[in-house]
Amino acid sequence: NGLTMDDYQLTLTGVVERAERFHSGKDVVSRRPDGSIARTTLGACARRSRRLATALAGLGVADGDRVATLLWNQAEHLEMYFAVPAMGAVVHTLNPRLHADELGFIVGDAQDRVIVVDESLLEVLDTFRHAHQFEHVIVVAHSDTAPDGTLDYEALIGAAEPMEWPALDEGRAGAMCYTSGTTGRPKGVVYSHRALVLHSLTAALPDSLGVSTQDTLMPVVPMFHANAWGLPYAAALLGARLVLPGPKLDPVSVLDLIATEKVTMTAGVPTVWMAMLDALDAQPQRWELGHLDRLIVGGAAVSRSLLEGYDRHGLTVVQAWGMTETAPLGTVSRLPVDLREGEADEQYAFRARQGVAMPFVDIRARSEDDGFIEWDDRAMGELEVRGPWVAAAYHNGKGADSFTADGWFRTGDIVRIDHRGCIRVCDRSKDLVKSGGEWISSVDLENHLMAHPSVAEAAVIAVPDPRWGERPLAVLVLRDGMTADPEQLREHLSTEFSRWQLPERFEIVSTIPRTATGKFKKLTLREQFSA
Ligand code: ADP
Repeated sequence: NGLTMDDYQLTLTGVVERAERFHSGKDVVSRRPDGSIARTTLGACARRSRRLATALAGLGVADGDRVATLLWNQAEHLEMYFAVPAMGAVVHTLNPRLHADELGFIVGDAQDRVIVVDESLLEVLDTFRHAHQFEHVIVVAHSDTAPDGTLDYEALIGAAEPMEWPALDEGRAGAMCYTSGTTGRPKGVVYSHRALVLHSLTAALPDSLGVSTQDTLMPVVPMFHANAWGLPYAAALLGARLVLPGPKLDPVSVLDLIATEKVTMTAGVPTVWMAMLDALDAQPQRWELGHLDRLIVGGAAVSRSLLEGYDRHGLTVVQAWGMTETAPLGTVSRLPVDLREGEADEQYAFRARQGVAMPFVDIRARSEDDGFIEWDDRAMGELEVRGPWVAAAYHNGKGADSFTADGWFRTGDIVRIDHRGCIRVCDRSKDLVKSGGEWISSVDLENHLMAHPSVAEAAVIAVPDPRWGERPLAVLVLRDGMTADPEQLREHLSTEFSRWQLPERFEIVSTIPRTATGKFKKLTLREQFSA
């Protein structure tokens, strides 16, 4: 009948079983909200997840049901990552930093039946609980017991028998995450088992994230932000030690943990690493970081100054690009062999790009005349992607206009692509500045402003202009005790930009507002400075 190879299903159950059988002794280290350290292993998490699954089934969780988590990066979250998909249900991670209205909307839209919440986040749950009727609230308690009206996570696991995992189809849903809603209401992205298995495997490739059994992996990116970029599943599949830093993500706490646990690989958004770089610059001798092989940075553009800053400390930043809709890894920026001996300028220019698509992620960029741009690094267009871990639709059929007629996902990112297929994100389409009919890249301006010695952070937005349509406006946070006047800043920019591209207005602020995933909140800035 034409059958050639075993029709083996690529499911997360296989990932959990591998953690249990092959990597049982590998540490899972969690830092608790009170700062204390809890130690368990991949094997213990996998075994406990069988009991957790039985307990959830006992509460009525059945095939395809959504189970929400309101948890930090902690071992219990990993147990939920294991138990819920393997039992045939869908683990839905919630971002506690979202606004209560958004959280209320999201849990209603997903129809979550049960929620598992860390005790330290019960207050957050209270802000949106009225919006949706959870059948059960399960609390990971750090004090004696769970509050009245809730179930105790440990008690449930203690009372349950281990589940024999059911056989599942790889195409079925295993996890779910909402976009952060920077453009309208959040939309749900549902991940299939197959998507997350293939994503974990590709995370292991040496030219992508290179996760292996040699690694001690610390996702600083939260487990509610696009599955911590797939790192927990990759660690389980490949047998990396896992360090889960909990809620305290200030630079000193993060650096302490990297040093004491001998972390080899970490990952997070640029804002985290900017703050950490300042701490390192202030006290370069304080931490022994020789074991730290790479920092994966993505979620927003990585500036040359960030790359240079870490190079000064002998630490390698690797940029990656992705979205909730791409599970999230889409591209990774690794220096090509022929550039290894190249000029520093050339190397930094490459590393500041978002990178080359992962295997099986197809890319193209649509031009303004509805064709596709050349890969000449000059033309700009909206990036479209497809692949085994790229969304084909949103939950409940929302946002259908984000998909092309031939099934590609429209990212909303405006890119250039070079002859190697390496992309450079110039902007999100809604952040691009269009002045006198020409585009100005806010990302390029920001990156160059952040290379100015007085500038700690820069966000460039478009403001309406009667003559030009829009003009760029730069919002800056200055380094302590430093000053900068507009003429100096324009002078600094003029080495890289034409006169007409330079902002007229520079606004100095003490902090730039951030989104729930730690990115600059340009929407708020536009409202504030558009007048
Ligand atoms: P949100 O930003 O709304 O929280 P995501 O976390 O899914 O949602 O973010 C996806 C977006 O983040 C991308 O469309 C892109 O604009 C931006 N992004 C991600 N990685 C990078 C990167 N390395 N450089 C520039 N932009 C990036």
